[in-house]
Order: sequence, then structure tokens, then C-alpha cells
Amino acid sequence: MLMLDIRKKIIEAARKMLKYGLTTGTWGNLSIRHNEILVAITPSGVDYETMIPEDVVIVDLTGKVIDGTLKPSSEMPMHLAIYQARSDVQAVVHTHSPYASAFAILGKEIPVVLAEMGSVVGGSVLVTPYCRPGTAELGKDVVRCLRDRAGVLLGNHGVVAIGRNIEEALTAAQVVEDGARIYQMAAVIGEPRLLPEEEVSVLREQYIKHYGQK
Ligand SMILES: [Zn+2]
Repeated sequence: MLMLDIRKKIIEAARKMLKYGLTTGTWGNLSIRHNEILVAITPSGVDYETMIPEDVVIVDLTGKVIDGTLKPSSEMPMHLAIYQARSDVQAVVHTHSPYASAFAILGKEIPVVLAEMGSVVGGSVLVTPYCRPGTAELGKDVVRCLRDRAGVLLGNHGVVAIGRNIEEALTAAQVVEDGARIYQMAAVIGEPRLLPEEEVSVLREQYIKHYGQK
């Protein structure tokens, strides 16, 4: 895939993130790994609606800018820490989606109440301790708390979702938000019933096989 196509994919996904209500303004950021060694990442503080391909910054895994004139997202160290630790991850999405962020503020994991939480996310969504945004330390906590899941909550902050491609990471970010929102709605009416762990494993296995590497 050409670098231009990857930059376009970043913008397309960023606009979807906005459209799906996963973030507001210029908050949130996302990246795609290319050829193992390069990462295309959203620039810092640029409106997603007016962003053009050249605005997307290309960096190497140490954070050195390879192509682009703008400053990469302030959360770049976190994105890079994930790629360095996980060779299976090809895309990272970071949002401040409100229902999931409410769990992040409480330091409470999002339990598995929906089938897609099992298949797409792979289990409950854990929470990192609070860590100042933009630090590499946050990246380390993210990697640790992700475990085998496709999503994690950043304490008092927001959501990180990962995937084997950007579509998968964006879907995971949506499912984390849906899971948090629907759990909260259900908890108002009564006691939500959680999906058993065995069922979650089966759902996850099916999803991984069905939506394998393209
Ligand atoms: Zn953030």
C-alpha cells in the first residue's frame, strides 16, 4: 500500500471516530503501522474535517519524523510503546468516548455483557492507573493492562483500542463505548447479567478466525 493511501485511511478513520461520537474537536488520535518500521499518525491539534493527507505525520518506531511538516500527536509515545511491544498490532485508536471514559474515571473495568464485547474486544476492558498523557510510562501501562484484549481504559482519561488493521481497531473502540453505554443503561434498571468466561473464549476464537489477516 502506498503512503498516500495510508494517510487517506488515517483521515477516513479519524472522521468516522468523530461521526460515531467517539471523540469531539481535535481530541483523540490514531495511527497505522506500515512495513513494520514506519507509523502514520494524526498530527497534533488539526481539525479532522479539514485534515489533508500531507498533514498526517510519518515517523519511525523511535519517533523520528520521516515525512511531514506538522508535529505528530502528543500521544505518539504511547502509540510507539504499543507497536514496540506487540508485533501483532497494526493500528491504534485513542478516543475520549464519554460512556467508557466514565468507567475510566471510576477506575472500574467494563464487564462483558454483550456478545460483541466477547468477540471484538475479547473480554472485560481493564483500566490503567492514572498516568500523565503524552508520557512513555502511559504506553507501558497500556501494554500491561491490554493483556489479550483489543481495548483498554486509561485511568481518568479515555480509551485505547488496537487491531490487526485500522478498521478492526475502530470497531473495537466502538464496541468498548457501546459496551459501557449499554451496561450503564442496564444497571439503572437492574443487575446486568455477565456473559460466562467460556462463552467469551468461544466468541473471541470465532471472531479471530473469521476476520483473519487480510
Ligand atoms: Zn487523550
